[in-house]
Amino acid sequence: MLTNDQLAAWDRDHFFHPSTALGAHARGETPPRVMSGGDGVFIEDRDGNRLLDAFAGLYCVNVGYGRRQIADAIAAQAQQLAYYHAYVGHGTEASITLAKMILDRAPQGMSKVFFGLGGSDANETNIKLVWYYNNILGRPEKKKIVSRWRGYHGSGLMTGSLTGLKLFHDKFDLPLAQVVHTEAPYFYRRADPSLSEAEFTAHCAAELETLIDREGPETIAAFIGEPVLGTGGLVPPPAGYWDAIQKVLDRHDILLIADEVVTGFGRLGSMFGSDHYGMRPDLITIAKGLTSAYAPLSGSIFGDRMWQVLMQGTDENGAIGHGWTYSAHPIGAAAGVANLKLIDEMGLVANAGAVGRHLRAALRDAVGDHPNVGDIRGEGMMAAVELVKDRDSRTFFDPTEKAAIRVVAALLSEGVIGRAMPQSDIVGFAPPLCLTTDEADQVATALGKAIRSVLG
Ligand code: PLP
Repeated sequence: MLTNDQLAAWDRDHFFHPSTALGAHARGETPPRVMSGGDGVFIEDRDGNRLLDAFAGLYCVNVGYGRRQIADAIAAQAQQLAYYHAYVGHGTEASITLAKMILDRAPQGMSKVFFGLGGSDANETNIKLVWYYNNILGRPEKKKIVSRWRGYHGSGLMTGSLTGLKLFHDKFDLPLAQVVHTEAPYFYRRADPSLSEAEFTAHCAAELETLIDREGPETIAAFIGEPVLGTGGLVPPPAGYWDAIQKVLDRHDILLIADEVVTGFGRLGSMFGSDHYGMRPDLITIAKGLTSAYAPLSGSIFGDRMWQVLMQGTDENGAIGHGWTYSAHPIGAAAGVANLKLIDEMGLVANAGAVGRHLRAALRDAVGDHPNVGDIRGEGMMAAVELVKDRDSRTFFDPTEKAAIRVVAALLSEGVIGRAMPQSDIVGFAPPLCLTTDEADQVATALGKAIRSVLG
């Protein structure tokens, strides 16, 4: 077995890590962390640390680590048939079964699943097929996509453009011209603090309407949004938001893409965020929770309105010119089938709702009174603690103070993994959906100690 030192040297010399300060890492200024095992909500590294992973990897290991049923399903599929493609109507028992299981769980009006590898490629599929849809309908100018500031939809060329965070645009020549951004539904950070929640919802809808008027409704194809903002700050929408947005979209014949990469399959305490908030999407993006990240797999669930037009398109023009070598990969599909069964057997959707509520209450008890805690929020098994310099005047920390990054580092020394969310000072939690109330208490206690040790 390789020594940790050997691995650290190879890592610095050879490995280009995503979302990493490349120079600091290559120079050895940030320690490599080599993960080696896990069970339930706990993960272990090669230095012998056992950590409570309160972010479920990247909010994806929904059933928790070390689930034998999924590992066995993957092994059985790899032995029987590791790969065959899905082009020209090919499938496997696993991919066909998984498509049915997804549709059985999906919101009303959904029709078919296209499989990809990750959330970014699924959103690329969505936008490409939205463009195809409008070409088939004879309206080639209706192509722009509205996304929200602070939305996260991936880091490809189109999906990085949809993402509404500076780090994903600056120096990459993004966003692309077909993407326009609108107000983030972020009540705590609203520019005008005198607005009530209902007034802020009306303001978000009015901003969207203004943008559509400015661009011309005949140029706007779709609106994409996460039911709850994820990477942009773990922000549930203000009351009535989705209903108000849906009305604007309906008025202008604009498709709704619900990006449920994080919220799909139970994270909000409902099977889908769309059902949770009464959204009526035309397309739903799924990934992470589909396999609990035991294998890479994503999907785009097409609603019936789009599907009918796609069929018309291929009747008129030939087979759809879109697909990946690994679409519906049998190993991912086998992992997905075993994972969705496990979510049902373990009652994880209900657990996410109940223990998620308990987690937020425990966080309020532990740090709600701290002068540097401005907001504690969340929905289901998503929670955020927003740190501020001064809570009464809602003054935010200067980014150079790295308040959340330091708190998350202190939290790690308490044995708990949280995530410092980008472009703000937010400590984020999105644990596996199997978290227990005792484990939730452990997270809250550790955060209390971490905040006091860093901020006093
Ligand atoms: N959409 C949402 C809502 C996400 O949170 C993510 C990733 O975090 C993505 C899309 C992109 O998924 P991936 O990183 O698998 O490409």
